[in-house]
Amino acid sequence: MRGTSAWWNGNIVDAASIHLSPFTHGLHYGVGAFEGIRAYRQTQSPHGGGAIFRLTEHIRRWKESFKILGFSIPFSQEALVQACVDTCSANKFDECYLRPIAFIGDGPLGVYPGENPPVDVCILAWQWGAYLGESAREGVRLCVSSYVRPHVNSIMTKGKISGQYVTGVLAKCEAKRGGFDEALLLDPEGYLAEGTGENLFIVKEGVVKTAPLNSLLNGITRHTAIEYFRNHDIPVVFERFTRDELYAADECFMTGTAAEITPVREVDRRVIGENGSSSTSSSCPGPITSKLSKEFAEWVRGRLPPYGKHWLTPIPHE
Ligand code: PMP
Repeated sequence: MRGTSAWWNGNIVDAASIHLSPFTHGLHYGVGAFEGIRAYRQTQSPHGGGAIFRLTEHIRRWKESFKILGFSIPFSQEALVQACVDTCSANKFDECYLRPIAFIGDGPLGVYPGENPPVDVCILAWQWGAYLGESAREGVRLCVSSYVRPHVNSIMTKGKISGQYVTGVLAKCEAKRGGFDEALLLDPEGYLAEGTGENLFIVKEGVVKTAPLNSLLNGITRHTAIEYFRNHDIPVVFERFTRDELYAADECFMTGTAAEITPVREVDRRVIGENGSSSTSSSCPGPITSKLSKEFAEWVRGRLPPYGKHWLTPIPHE
């Protein structure tokens, strides 16, 4: 369900009252930066209510994404944090997905938007269940895409930049039409990079592996998972890996704000964690993925470990 209220350039307004000009530069060229943030009902906390997970980090990345584009979001970090809280409160949402977006507005329509183009800033909220479907908790089926994540000098990997998502949309549509749940993109040198909206991890003989940040988004859920492993003395290595290493992994999972911790059952029709080829006998999720996923689900709902004590921003009740 979509929230009826939204934050638009500094004020909470009726979401239906926001109208965009077709002359919006960001619409034509994808010059915008966005975030995806989740708020959770605090069922694990005696205080109850709702809280937004790792809001500060998401707003920081949002501002950095826009800076990478060469422009500035005309609101402070603190004002944008408050704006997200206000958007949840205005919609009376304890649990929702937040979508902040900033983009070049109605101004010069050449590729060059000018030195001080208009910037529109918006925060939307809606209720969103499991991103890859309810059955994703038992594991998703992936394919390695024929589309490749562009070179680091073709896309800005540290930014969540609107136009850059076209490659992801192409890959996702190809995967869905092929009967898969999600696509994995290789980097230009042929190593696994990430999903269209998720970071990727494998586990082999008790060691967790994920690619270094060079050609992928610095995922906040990826960081949360790494903190979990560090604090549970589970070794994590940051190394690029090939698709055959992925096929032969004991476990595989993806992380993302929308996707949370999603176990991977199958990649390119190979069952992960088994030698066989039938998906019916797979033991998915595997033990490391299961424990991480269980703990993550508790943290976001208010049972944070000491090192995560700043990770939840409460949504005040009326
Ligand atoms: N990679 C891409 C391309 C994404 O769009 C996302 C979702 N933001 C992620 C990874 C995961 O990042 P996060 O955990 O911060 O949501």
